[in-house]
Amino acid sequence: MSRVEVRDLTVVRGTRTVLSGVGLAVGGGDWLAVIGANGAGKSTLLKALAGVLPYSGEVLVDGTPVRALKPRERARLLAYAPQSPVLPADMTVFDYTLLGRTPYISHLGRESRRDREVTASVLERLGLSSFASRLLGHLSGGERQRVVLARALTQQAPVLLLDEPTTALDLGHQQQVLELVDRLRLADGLTVVTTLHDLSLAGQYADSMMLVAGGGAAASGVPADVLTEKLIAEHFDARVRVVTGAGGRPEVHLERPCT
Ligand code: ADP
Ligand code: MG
Repeated sequence: MSRVEVRDLTVVRGTRTVLSGVGLAVGGGDWLAVIGANGAGKSTLLKALAGVLPYSGEVLVDGTPVRALKPRERARLLAYAPQSPVLPADMTVFDYTLLGRTPYISHLGRESRRDREVTASVLERLGLSSFASRLLGHLSGGERQRVVLARALTQQAPVLLLDEPTTALDLGHQQQVLELVDRLRLADGLTVVTTLHDLSLAGQYADSMMLVAGGGAAASGVPADVLTEKLIAEHFDARVRVVTGAGGRPEVHLERPCT
């Protein structure tokens, strides 16, 4: 199980400092949910962790600064599913998912039988086997989102970074995807960092949460410490009622203002 640590992370995009001096730690096998209003910097944080954006500060996996690693080595440690990836329209679901095996295939080599087996098994687990030969350009938004997750899982990295993995999914698929991620976490000891805009859903799955606002962590801790009516009013400008649900986890309900 791999521990993730971030120290003094600063990310500048364009002329704007989106994140400034952010620190966080996720224990091996734990699930951290990153929340925050639109534009707060959640995707920016995940992109920096994944190494697809330049940053200052340090991202460490089991104490190793990932900046020092070659892309192939980094990809074996951290798998990243972006929020809105650009997908090649004329590639099949199988071939795209197989790309997750790239860090294991030598530069001049071809994929092995094992790579194809891992790919087929991930597609099966995500209920995508019957889509294997379909073209990406012919999928619905929710199907594309599951394929992007499949590619990340095929990477078999100990750290899984998922940016809004459920946004385009219907209720049933939201539950299936999050349950699958949780099962993998428990079975394979994956460390999971997700952004999730559904606060109740985030509170149900995460061990810890971080609320991003103003370029940093406005709050972090167990879900009950972060999902409070006061913090949500302050940072989302929303009126909500927070109740304690199953397992003592907080549930967030939107409340209509009195007229
Ligand atoms: P979130 O995922 O929390 O909604 P993002 O991390 O995507 O927010 O964006 C954080 C901020 O960075 C936003 O203000 C956004 O406009 C800005 N931003 C995102 N991408 C770029 C970019 N390529 N160039 C400049 N600013 C950007
Ligand atoms: Mg985002």
